[in-house]
Amino acid sequence: MHMTIIPATNHALPAEPFQGRHLIDGVWQGSADGRSFNRASPAHGVLVSQSALGGQAEADAAIAAARRAFDDGRWSRLSGKARAAVLLRVADLIEGSVDRIALLETLESGKPISQAKGEVAGAADLWRYAASLARTLHGDSHNSLGPDMLGVVLKEPIGVVSIITPWNFPFWIVSQKLPFALAAGCTCVVKPSEMTPSSTVMLGELLVQAGLPAGVVNIVLGYGLPVGAAMVESASVDMVTFTGSTAVGKQIAATAAGTLKKVALELGGKNPQVIYPDADLEGAADAVTFGVYFNAGECCNSGSRVIVHADVAEAFIARVVALSGHVAFGDPLNSDTQVGAIISPAHNAKIDSYVQAAVKAGATVRLGGGLLQVPGLAGQFYQPTIVADVTPDMAIARDEVFGPVLSVLTFRTHDEAIALVNDGTYGLSAGVWSENVHTCMDFARRVQAGTVWTNTWMDGFPELTFGGVKQSGQGREIGPYGLDEFLEVKTLAMRIGRTRAPWVKTR
Ligand code: NAD
Repeated sequence: MHMTIIPATNHALPAEPFQGRHLIDGVWQGSADGRSFNRASPAHGVLVSQSALGGQAEADAAIAAARRAFDDGRWSRLSGKARAAVLLRVADLIEGSVDRIALLETLESGKPISQAKGEVAGAADLWRYAASLARTLHGDSHNSLGPDMLGVVLKEPIGVVSIITPWNFPFWIVSQKLPFALAAGCTCVVKPSEMTPSSTVMLGELLVQAGLPAGVVNIVLGYGLPVGAAMVESASVDMVTFTGSTAVGKQIAATAAGTLKKVALELGGKNPQVIYPDADLEGAADAVTFGVYFNAGECCNSGSRVIVHADVAEAFIARVVALSGHVAFGDPLNSDTQVGAIISPAHNAKIDSYVQAAVKAGATVRLGGGLLQVPGLAGQFYQPTIVADVTPDMAIARDEVFGPVLSVLTFRTHDEAIALVNDGTYGLSAGVWSENVHTCMDFARRVQAGTVWTNTWMDGFPELTFGGVKQSGQGREIGPYGLDEFLEVKTLAMRIGRTRAPWVKTR
C-alpha cells in the first residue's frame, strides 16, 4: 500500500513553553490559587504551553467585568464607525502575526503549518468583514401604519455573550463569533478549549494593542467544568455561543434554560457527498479526498460519508484510494505536510474503535485502518483510511468519527440517495456531484442540511452564512445572519399628533 509519510523534520521546537494568562478587565493575570495546566504537542510529545487554570473565581470576575463594560456603554454606545475602526486594526494586527500565531496553533493542535497559516490569515478577513457589518447595521421602519403612526424597529446588542470554542480550528472559530459580537456592540467572555488555549491568548494581546476598551473582551483559560459551565449558568450573561460536540451542546442548552438566555450552537456533522454516475468523477474524487483528510478529518464539515452510485462505485473507490497515497501525512511543522497529528491518544483510539467495529459488522477496509507511526515523532497519527461496504445502520455511517476515515455507501435511485442523506441525526452540510443541473437543484432543495455544495466541497466565505439543522446546531454564524444572532430587537410605535381617541368614556 503506497502512502506518503513526512518524517520528523529538524524544525526547532520552541525552547520555552508559551505562558498563557487570563485577560480580565484589561489585566493579564494568573489564577487566584496559582494553578496552571500544560499542553504537549500532539505530534512531537513535547511541552508547548503552560496556561493559568481558571476556576469559578476567574469566571465570575470575567463575567462581572463584561457586565460592567456592557452596562456603562463604553463599547455598546460607540458608533458603528468607531467599533469598525477597532475591528479593522485587529485584522491588520492578525495579518502581521500570522507566522507567530500559526506556529503555536500547529504545536497545540497538530495541524499542518501551511493550514494553520491559512486559517489565521483567513480569520483576519472575518474581522474585516465584521467591521463592514458594524457600519451597515440597522433596523426597520414602518411608514405605512396610517398618517398618525410611525413604527421603528431598533436593533440593539444583546448584552454579555459567553463564547466557548473547541480545539479543531481554535483561531478560526473564535473569529467566526467574536468580531460579530463586537460589531453588534456586545461585551464578551471567551473560553478556548483546554487543548488549544494559546492562539486565543495571542488574539487577546492584539485586541489590547488595537485599543479595545478594558473589560469588553475577557478571556478565561481552563476546562468546561467549572469555567464553561459557569459562563453558561450565570444570570449576568445574556447569551451563549458554543461550538463543539453535540453532547456538550445539549448540556449547554439544558443549563441555559435555567435563565432562559439565548443559545447558539454549532455542533457535529456526518456530512454526505452523493456521487452521480454523470459527475466529473475525477474532480469529485479529488474533492472527496480533500474533504476527508483536511484537518485530519477533525473537522465539523468533514466529508466523512460518501454515497456513490453502484455503477461507478468500484472505479470511484479505486481512484480515491490512489489519490490518498499521494496525500502527505506526517510532521506538521514541515510545509509540505497535508495531514498532521491526531489531537490526543484517547481520540486516536476512538477513531480506531470505529474502524474495527465496522470491520466486525461486515465492512471492508480498502486503505489504512490503523494507527500510523511517523519516523522520529513521538506523537499520535492515524493512517488514511477508506472503508467500503458500509451499511447505513453501522456506527461508522452515523457517528462523527472525527478522523481521516472515509465511509463509502452506495445507491441506485435519486430518491434512495436523498433518503440516505437525510437518514441521521445530523444536518450540517451535504454535497452533490452531477453534471445535471436538475439533479443538483432537486438535491439542494430536499436534503436536510445547513449548507449544500454542488460540484465542490467546503468552499466558504465570510459573506455566506453557516450553521446546522437537526442535531448539528441552532442559530447561524458569519454572513449578515451571523451578526443578527448578537442583536436584540426593540419595537417603537410612535404617534404623530394628538390623534389618539380616549379609551375611557368620561361622559
Ligand atoms: P467539546 O464539546 O468537547 O468541547 C468544546 C468546548 O466546550 C471546550 O472549550 C470545552 O472545554 C467546553 N466544555 C466542555 N464541557 C462543557 C460544559 N459542561 N459546559 C460548558 N463548556 C464545556 O468539543 P471538542 O472536542 O473541543 O470539539 C470537537 C467537536 O466540535 C466536534 O463534535 C465538532 O463537530 C464540533 N465542531 C463543530 C463546528 C461547527 O461549526 N458546527 C465547528 C468545529 C467543531
